[in-house]
Amino acid sequence: MGKVLVLNASYEPLNITSWKRAVVLLLKEKAEQVEHNGKMLSPNFPLPTVIRLRQYIRVPYTEIPLTRRHVLQRDEHTCQYCGYHGDDLTLDHVLPRSRGGKDTWENIVAACVRCNVKKGNRTPKEAQLLLRTNPRRPYSSLYFELSKYLRNGSHQEWRKYTIGL
Ligand SMILES: [Zn+2]
Repeated sequence: MGKVLVLNASYEPLNITSWKRAVVLLLKEKAEQVEHNGKMLSPNFPLPTVIRLRQYIRVPYTEIPLTRRHVLQRDEHTCQYCGYHGDDLTLDHVLPRSRGGKDTWENIVAACVRCNVKKGNRTPKEAQLLLRTNPRRPYSSLYFELSKYLRNGSHQEWRKYTIGL
């Protein structure tokens, strides 16, 4: 049995929990069922896949450190120029460091060795490379967890609640 996406009262994704914990929240009427995938726990109780808290919970913002591992995770281990997917990726400064490019989420992307070498000391435009996405700071560690689940094809019913994450 699967995991359940918990939404805040505002419908923003809050966390991922076990189906058992989700059922407890439903039975205690602390949450309402938003989505299920048709599997039944009992004849009148569909197994939830998305629930929503009845009361809004304030979440403190936690910043994700800019590390190689996190950049690769954000970029789904895919070269942001050619789409190559693999473990042997490098990090590329979109605006090269030698030209004032900073170590920021917006300026660092995963790139395969070939694209990185081809790009060299140039901007993507100068090297006639096109970024596949607009690199940016991930919102939260939930972002990583969610993208992991969505990437492996499970929990597609979560997708509409994670747009923009
Ligand atoms: Zn590449």
